[in-house]
This record gives sequence, structure tokens and C-alpha cells, in this order.
Amino acid sequence: MAARSSPGRTAGSRGRTASRDDWRWQLGHAIETVAELARHLDLSREEREGALRAERQGLRLRITPYYLSLCDPHDPSCPIRRQVVPRSEETRAVPGDMVDPLGERAHRVAARLIRRYPDRALLLASAQCAVHCRFCTRSRLVGRRRDSPAPAGFEPAMRYLAQHPEIREVIVSGGDPLLLATDHLAALCARLRRIAHIEVLRLATRVPAALPSRVTAELVRALRRYHPIWVMTHFNHPRELTAAAEQACRRLVDAGFPVMNQTVLLRGVNDRASVLASLFRGLVRWRVRPYYFFQMDPVRGAAHLRTPLAAGVELMAALQGKLSGIALPKLVVDTPGGGGKVPLGPCYAVASAAGQTRLRPPGGASVAYVDPPA
Ligand SMILES: *Cc1c(COP(=O)(O)O)cnc(C)c1O
Repeated sequence: MAARSSPGRTAGSRGRTASRDDWRWQLGHAIETVAELARHLDLSREEREGALRAERQGLRLRITPYYLSLCDPHDPSCPIRRQVVPRSEETRAVPGDMVDPLGERAHRVAARLIRRYPDRALLLASAQCAVHCRFCTRSRLVGRRRDSPAPAGFEPAMRYLAQHPEIREVIVSGGDPLLLATDHLAALCARLRRIAHIEVLRLATRVPAALPSRVTAELVRALRRYHPIWVMTHFNHPRELTAAAEQACRRLVDAGFPVMNQTVLLRGVNDRASVLASLFRGLVRWRVRPYYFFQMDPVRGAAHLRTPLAAGVELMAALQGKLSGIALPKLVVDTPGGGGKVPLGPCYAVASAAGQTRLRPPGGASVAYVDPPA
């Protein structure tokens, strides 16, 4: 592949090193056209059509060479490939689809700031991602602005946060905040830390899964000064658990960042109990706690990746009692419209009478639980 320089391509483009192991090289060589994609993968008709469309409209095509290397070049049903290679089904509209499933426009309280809960707010720190996931809930925003916002662009959000002492936690998301230049992201964390009532920062990132080389020793050194920072990763399939991803997670955990993972349930990717068990156990071995298992948001153009609600509930039933409690995430649905996340799962209370409930242990006969006398 020819070296490309791409002005404005966030922090990635100005790297001096020309090594595949360098994250700037990875971003500078991200696959964004059908022609490039076809050089690496045998594209099916559905994929070629989808990728051609994604060159011109909708969520653009974007895959790092690292993430592409995890794809099976010959199998369009490869679980990694299904996450990032567009398909012709993206033009399909189905009932329930929305452009902004979480009602984020309506919950915007300042530029780049979304608030749906009393004590937490979410900051859209960057519109860039290392890869464009075809099921992205923010496909209306991602990849649109090529450059990162100037620090002044965050001041309205900072003013709002400063004026709302009930907000204790800020989720720095995007896009992917780890695509900001290190000094820029560190300055953003420092700025948030100047608001005394903000106790906890969370960084929500797919970088450990899609561009693990971005988690450099330098990045970790720059951010750890602003602890407590929790890092929320996004691994969806055990094939993403590579040596490079492990190193990224180890760096974070060793530097004192609690690392939690959010998995999205995807049809044909991770909708089998055995796949999830190996993903969640692998994460726990890395000291990454499976936190949420998301029902996919009904975002327009991704219905082919979505499962019925009952599928997630059945998967949870299959895993409950078999997987260690620390390996089992909570199944949640982010309610359409933006009312907030709700947990969902099998019901283990089969019947109840006054002062007594029948509970069904995983794989066993129901037993009575008797309340204490009033
Ligand atoms: C998901 C989300 C949060 C965090 O929710 P938790 O249940 O605390 O993980 C906060 N704000 C917004 C806008 C969110 O979408």
C-alpha cells in the first residue's frame, strides 16, 4: 500500500514512523474505499454493493489494517467482517428503526454534552473512530467531522457541568476519545478535573479492540494523573482478544484504570452462548470486567445485525450459573427515545404468594423463599 498523507485526519496522520505497529500508521492507512477493501477481502455481491454505497452516503467505510487482519478474507459471514464491512441490507428500512435511537438530540444540554441521568453526563469528545461499526448508534455523527474540535469547543459543556453540582460523573465518549491527540485528551481530562464536584471520569473507547497500538505507555502516563478514570472497552467476539489487545488492556489495568467491557449483541456475530462464554472468560483473564451486554439499538440501516429481545434473554439464561459471576455482564436495553437503560433477563421468581416466593435456580427445581414475619 502506498503511504498516504491525509491532512486533518485527527492525530494520526503526522506520525514519523512507518511501522504497522504504530497507531498513526494504522490510522493513515485505514481502509476507506471499495477498491482497497477488495484488495484484501473476496467481497460478496452484498458487501460490494454496501461498500459502494458507504463510499458516498450513510456511515462511511473505515477499517484499520489491524482490524482488517482479524477478518477472514474468504468468508463474508466472518464475525469480525460482519461488524465493519457494509452490506446492501443497510438500505433496508424496518419498522422501529430510528436515526437517533437514544433521543440524544432531545437530551443535548450544551454543545457536545448529552444528559439523560441526574448524576451523569456524556461528552462527545471526538467524531472520529478507528473503525466504523456498521451497527453504530451514533452513525448520524461518526466520521462526519474530520478534525478534532478545538479546546474552546468544549467550553459550553464545561460551563454547564460547572453549574450542575449534582453531576458526579462524566463519560467521555464520541466517536472515540482515544483518537484525540494525547495532549489534547489529557488537557480535556485536566479541564474536567478543575470542576470540583466531578468525582469520576469514564473513557468509552473501542480502541483496545480496533487499534490497540494507540494505548501507548505515553498515553497511559498522561492520563493516569487524572484518576479516578474508568475505561469502558468494546469487545464483541473472542477473535478480537489478540496479544496486541491484551497488551493494551494490561497497560491500562496496570496503571490503575478499572477496565470494564460493553458487548453489543449482534446477529451472526456473537449470538451463541459458547461464543459469549469464551469472550467473557477471556476478558476476565485480562482483568477486564464484562459490564453491559447491550441489546442492539434500533438504528437505521442495521436491522440485519439486530436480534429479537428474546434472544438476549435466552443467552443470559444459558450463561447464568455456568459462568462465574464476575464474567457475566448485565443484559441491558437502552430504551428507544432516550429514557435510559433498563436491565432485562430471565425471570427466576416463578410465583409468589404473601410472604413467600418460589425461585427457580439455574437448572434446578423451584424452591420456596420465605420472608421474615412482619
Ligand atoms: C449509557 C449512558 C450513561 C451511563 O449509563 P450507566 O448505566 O451508568 O453505565 C450515561 N449517560 C448517557 C447519555 C448514556 O447513554
